[in-house]
Amino acid sequence: MKAQTYSQEVVNLHTHSFYCGHGSGQIREYAQAAVEHGLKVLGFTEHCPVPDSRWARTRMDYEQMPLYEQDVRDARQNTPLTVLTAYECDYLPQYQSYYEELKAKTDYLICSIHDLSFDMDREYSVFWNTLTKEDLALYTDLYCKALQSGLFLFGAHPDVFAYNYHVWDDEAKACSKAIIECAASSGVALEINSNGMRKRKVKTAQGERYAYPILPFWQLASEYPVTVVTNSDAHKPSEIWAGLDKVVSFSQEAGITLADYTLQNGVVSLGT
Ligand SMILES: [Zn+2]
Ligand SMILES: [Zn+2]
Repeated sequence: MKAQTYSQEVVNLHTHSFYCGHGSGQIREYAQAAVEHGLKVLGFTEHCPVPDSRWARTRMDYEQMPLYEQDVRDARQNTPLTVLTAYECDYLPQYQSYYEELKAKTDYLICSIHDLSFDMDREYSVFWNTLTKEDLALYTDLYCKALQSGLFLFGAHPDVFAYNYHVWDDEAKACSKAIIECAASSGVALEINSNGMRKRKVKTAQGERYAYPILPFWQLASEYPVTVVTNSDAHKPSEIWAGLDKVVSFSQEAGITLADYTLQNGVVSLGT
């Protein structure tokens, strides 16, 4: 089949539903909202459960995965949309082979780092804790490992650390530079995520800014040959298209050109 190219305006490859427990809306309601907003390609990236039930507070049960995948397959019926099955995976090296198996039976995977604890019984979310310089270094290390794993289509909200690390200091710069360099050398795209634009703004000495994305991160990224995408990270159907206009102006301000997607024989990839 001939390859089809799609601009970011008609694609959303980062969405959640009621399955994760902190989102709402049925899969078919998202598909409906996507059609209403003129989208052509919709990917579901539910937070991925892992066999040992780590991170259970923020995702579906491991046993629910076949149900979710079937639900997404069912949403392909009677719709002009291309609907893709995927997961957003928090990366730890011990899950590499598990994620490889998952990659083989889904359309794509995306990575993110939400938790900075290796302890099964203690989650240390970047959303719930003020981050130290050590936390930032660990975040960067895990994020780079994820980008280098060969598993992922793009890295979600790489600058999410800014939600709870409010200064742009040497550590933030070094962390950002390392992530951007890993993305460029691994050929994995990075995502400007508009979910952070919907959260409470952060007050800094330079004024208010988005919780994430943060401008200096993406200005730095613009100096590297890194592919950049954007998504709304919707957690309810009405967010299917949320923030796209803001992301477009944000990208322009940062000097970033958003990449196009290519779809061929059901396989999604990124062009520039
Ligand atoms: Zn979520
Ligand atoms: Zn997400």
